[in-house]
Amino acid sequence: MGTKHPDQIGIGHWRQTCETVGKMYEKGWDLHGRCNACDLLMLVDFRVLIAMRGPDFIPWNRKTRCRRIVFAGRCKGFVEFEFRAPGMTEFRQLKAAPADRLSDAPVGHVMRAFYEEIDRKKAAKP
Ligand SMILES: [Zn+2]
Repeated sequence: MGTKHPDQIGIGHWRQTCETVGKMYEKGWDLHGRCNACDLLMLVDFRVLIAMRGPDFIPWNRKTRCRRIVFAGRCKGFVEFEFRAPGMTEFRQLKAAPADRLSDAPVGHVMRAFYEEIDRKKAAKP
């Protein structure tokens, strides 16, 4: 079998198959925000994010000011998203060119097989 492990799948493919928070939630992704200055880590609650921004909100390449209060005032860092799709062992930065500007090949059998496997597992749950 030539099926790629999810950790080996290129970032472009991830963005192509899962651009919006609605889709990420549906596919069972984990998302968190990490500050690039103070390392503050915040788990993203998809239900809250979807309620606030709608299911079509695209979190790719976004960063926001860190809200942590530090001794000197406010942290000067930026919080960026990191994701972990089912099967991945580590979080990766949610950074990739928009789907329509990617040079990556279109989603092939690797990703389809991957998601079919997830669907099978979900269907098997009582
Ligand atoms: Zn910070």
